[in-house]
Amino acid sequence: MEAKKRKVLAEPFKIKMVEPLKITTEEYRINALKKAGYNPFLLRADDVFIDLLTDSGTGAMSDRQWGGIMTGDESYAGAKSWEHLETVVKDLTGMPFILPTHQGRAAERILYGILGGKDKIFISNTHFDTTRANIEFTGATAIDVMPDEANDPEIYLPFKGNIDLAKVKTLVDDYGKENIAAIIITVTNNSAGGQPVSMENVKALRGICDENELLLVIDGCRIAENSYFIKHREKGFENKSYIEIAQEMLRLGDAFIMSSKKDGLVNIGGLLTLKDEALSVKCKNLLIISEGFTTYGGLAGRDMEALSIGLVEVFDKDYLHYRIRSTEYLGENLKRMGIPVVWPIGGHAVYIDAKKLYPNIPIEQYPGQALVCDLYVNGGIRCVEVGSVMFGKYDPSGNLIPAANELVRLAIPRRVYTQSHIDYVIEVFEDILKLRNQERGYKITYEPAFLRHFTATFEKLN
Ligand SMILES: *Cc1c(COP(=O)(O)O)cnc(C)c1O
Repeated sequence: MEAKKRKVLAEPFKIKMVEPLKITTEEYRINALKKAGYNPFLLRADDVFIDLLTDSGTGAMSDRQWGGIMTGDESYAGAKSWEHLETVVKDLTGMPFILPTHQGRAAERILYGILGGKDKIFISNTHFDTTRANIEFTGATAIDVMPDEANDPEIYLPFKGNIDLAKVKTLVDDYGKENIAAIIITVTNNSAGGQPVSMENVKALRGICDENELLLVIDGCRIAENSYFIKHREKGFENKSYIEIAQEMLRLGDAFIMSSKKDGLVNIGGLLTLKDEALSVKCKNLLIISEGFTTYGGLAGRDMEALSIGLVEVFDKDYLHYRIRSTEYLGENLKRMGIPVVWPIGGHAVYIDAKKLYPNIPIEQYPGQALVCDLYVNGGIRCVEVGSVMFGKYDPSGNLIPAANELVRLAIPRRVYTQSHIDYVIEVFEDILKLRNQERGYKITYEPAFLRHFTATFEKLN
């Protein structure tokens, strides 16, 4: 059966176990949102119908993975499940030293804790927020270098997540190679909309690292999704399998960091893999202090078993086609309706330009927050603002310094929602379009000093 030729994107799985969703009324949701201070992070998940808050750790495991949960080996050291995981990850990365961690950020804290420190510089296409936080925590500086044209939300570029190679060279010359701790390429580029990175870009980056004896880290928690884009957009990869493409890319790195909560197809876990033995010894010492022994690193045997299986399933061609197409399907339909979406659609999420959608709401009144609240009230859909609530700062006189864009992210969990759920989301946006001329924004009534979007509360303005 060839899914490509059909209009309906039929899921390449059938459902063996169901989790009921609560259907609520609009009145119920208005009340729930008010109680949550107009911040969907503070809603009870049970009050949400379609949860598009994040794709991290929210995916559904397969029957084979659940089988692995039962057969997981819980031995403290040298468990069978560890051997299974180590074999799969060595085959994927080609790297000899494999360290399991409880999440991606634990791998980051270990590696960047060793490489970082005052006066050190890290360069990336875009540092993900936990990556930046772990680097800055050591006193080091994290610099993002994207090509200028990639900041345009409407321009089509096949590999809009690429790093700007010319800017990398300039930075290395300016700071001196001895001060560069590492270059980190994030694939796909999460903070820049889940946009892919080309093989050509990573190969050229490898060249710069070789010339200057720099360490290249691949933050590849969406490496399978990135491989899909390479096969379908980059010349020379048409006949390679997704796993072959991932293997080729990972062999260009000196280290690989992964949050298994994404393309690991599990609900918890992380990985750090390394080529260099001396560096791996330092990392293992920190791993034992903070995560656990080297053959489990903060994971149960059953977690490692499920991850070993997930890392193989994620490269299945039918799964990846469904995965990338279902995200695109949502984005393309919203665009067709006249909803301003960031283009092209990335791998794991659709981003909406709330400033354009709600032109009458001033930025100081957070148009993205207004859209997030409207989606919940109108359809029980939960998503997140990625704009001035998340990234805004204040000048000395207390005026808002807005973020570069006022976006809203609809992140798609893996294997969780069917096409009819996605069609439902599209239908809710028909109601949203009718609100486009509203002038009701929000004001912040409480905010913490750091990462305010998680816990801030709001008041609806009249
Ligand atoms: C999620 C993510 C991380 C952090 O991983 P956690 O498992 O959430 O700690 C790091 N980098 C990228 C690109 C991510 O998407």
